Amino acid sequence: MTRASDLAARLKAGMPNLRGRLLADQPLGELTWFRVGGPAEALFTPADEDDLAAFLHNLAPEVPVSVIGLGSNLIVRDGGVPGVVIRLGRGFGAVTGEPGSRMRAGAAVPDVKVARDAQTAGISGLAFLRGIPGAIGGALRMNGGAYGRETKDALIEARGVDRSGAVRRFANADLDFRYRHCGAPDDVIFTEALFRGEPGEPEKIAAEMAAITEAREQSQPVKNRTGGSTFKNPPGAKAWQLIDAAGCRGLRMGGAQVSELHCNFLINLGSASAADIEMLGETVRRRVKDTSGVELEWEIKRIGVAKPA
Ligand SMILES: Cc1cc2nc3c(=O)[nH]c(=O)nc-3n(C[C@H](O)[C@H](O)[C@H](O)COP(=O)(O)OP(=O)(O)OC[C@H]3O[C@@H](n4cnc5c(N)ncnc54)[C@H](O)[C@@H]3O)c2cc1C
Repeated sequence: MTRASDLAARLKAGMPNLRGRLLADQPLGELTWFRVGGPAEALFTPADEDDLAAFLHNLAPEVPVSVIGLGSNLIVRDGGVPGVVIRLGRGFGAVTGEPGSRMRAGAAVPDVKVARDAQTAGISGLAFLRGIPGAIGGALRMNGGAYGRETKDALIEARGVDRSGAVRRFANADLDFRYRHCGAPDDVIFTEALFRGEPGEPEKIAAEMAAITEAREQSQPVKNRTGGSTFKNPPGAKAWQLIDAAGCRGLRMGGAQVSELHCNFLINLGSASAADIEMLGETVRRRVKDTSGVELEWEIKRIGVAKPA
């Protein structure tokens, strides 16, 4: 692998018109909920969509690109992430109400802000976003959902930039949304979403959001270093029940533990490495396979490389 500082310096020298921030060897752990993982070889925070498009257009095709949001569904491996990691910032942080109970939100806007602004504007149907601690780009990529609704149920269209730097527009139907799945090409970095709700009473929506907040706090380890649901629910079953039946509730490996509160959540007790967490997840998968025959599929995304032994 090229030395980290070399890649960032080379890219900067080759793209003097970049307006965003391009930094070498940037720690990523602190940008994730798990608080684990190595550095990005280069971390780019584009100034806006044009800057992102120009960067990708000019970036040599062999340089790997990854995108992260608020890191709430993410394990960054201990050896870090080769190539460029892109994290959208303030230039993608606008959220505005539009006629017809619509909300337009940049991909870096936290889901909870969209829920709150919709509530204030008297738009119902977006309160479920209160339950998802990511940003809109992650909600699109994961088809995030909670309390009976998913991103796909409220989305009209999304915009994104592909690896060649082309800006693309996707209608909801183009995105082949399924449970925790979005069919947009893997290289697309979402930049904006347009949602539609229904006219609603702000007080009623506020009560719905309060109920969601309370339900989450009782059922999920929201104050821990975690990555949300580790595995997707297999058809006709609940991952947590299979994990419980396999005797994995509370199971520990290094500094990582299967949550006692919700056993589809893994938590970093404080000293876990990414390898501890991933190994614990794989152990859970193996035990569930042995006891129930079901192969759990990771919902959490894992990026980067292991630390050399
Ligand atoms: C306590 C807790 C509770 C949770 N509860 C729920 C829940 O109820 N429902 C639910 O669905 N999820 C839940 N999650 C998981 C997580 O919040 C969602 O998956 C969320 O949508 C991830 O968004 P993010 O911004 O954190 O993305 P990240 O975790 O940073 O990334 C997740 C994936 O999205 C991709 N991505 C991020 N931004 C973009 C972008 N702009 N363009 C393209 N791809 C992008 C990344 O490459 C990665 O593959 C929970 C997580 C935690 C920690």
